[in-house]
Amino acid sequence: MPAEPPRRRRVLILGGTAEALALADVVHARHRDRLTVITSLAGRIAPGRDRRGELRIGGFGGADGLARYLRAEAITAVVDATHPFAARISGHAADACAAAGVPRLMLVRPEWRPEPDTEWPGRDWPGGDWIKATDFADAAAIVARTARRAWLTTGPGALDHFAGIAGVWFLVRLFQAPEAPLPLAGAAVIVARPPFTVDDERRVLSGHGIDTLVTKNAGGPLAAKLEAARAEGVRVVMIARPPAPAGERVETVDDALAWIARRL
Ligand code: NAP
Repeated sequence: MPAEPPRRRRVLILGGTAEALALADVVHARHRDRLTVITSLAGRIAPGRDRRGELRIGGFGGADGLARYLRAEAITAVVDATHPFAARISGHAADACAAAGVPRLMLVRPEWRPEPDTEWPGRDWPGGDWIKATDFADAAAIVARTARRAWLTTGPGALDHFAGIAGVWFLVRLFQAPEAPLPLAGAAVIVARPPFTVDDERRVLSGHGIDTLVTKNAGGPLAAKLEAARAEGVRVVMIARPPAPAGERVETVDDALAWIARRL
């Protein structure tokens, strides 16, 4: 009797990040003869450039829905490459993979860290301050205490935390135009999608007289906005990441590729 062909592997990448896009491309390019790669997006914003492999869009319906999907689609491994602040889907992925017995890897970029100021020993952010906020509410309290003109790059979901702050003018950058008026008393909106250069970001900071940049600790290579803030002497309020589920973690696309290759 002829031997059965090896079972085709099906890897689900939970996406929404540049790393997820890069991983789908490289996994498809290297292993498409033995493996199908499926990327899942939440579908809040239009997907960026085309990616390799299959694409599915929309929520699964909680951890139970995701577990059902994993079984129905015979998924053999999951890479959670979602944004470090997308805590809900990461928690669901942990629960669903445990329930369905599917191995799961988290691909999470390293955090941004302040760099020592070589000219001013003891200061950890050349040209200004790098203030750590434990969460959005803490960031709002810091802004209320210290800022006059703050640039919020925290995404639309976080704006409510900054509502009701008096005496601070806000600049808000969003990937797409807001559907409702912003919950901020004095604010201007810029609609733009990355990539941004350091010069772009310096023009935003100086053009609007920004004294405080508020950002989530998304991590990865130092963002142009952070380099620009350093160059312009603008204070940074850095919001810490929410806790992530336990489990295997890597920081690079190469390491995630190696993890998948071990499961072929
Ligand atoms: P979240 O709060 O963790 O998730 C909310 C719900 O959205 C989840 O419960 C899930 O719905 C659905 N969902 C999230 N990511 C999904 C995915 N990759 N595929 C299918 N469904 C997904 O997530 P979020 O912070 O709103 O982020 C949504 C997406 O944007 C994520 O893919 C993330 O990687 C990306 N993103 C987020 C940020 C950020 O700062 N949060 C920044 C850049 C990109 P169900 O419960 O129905 O399954």
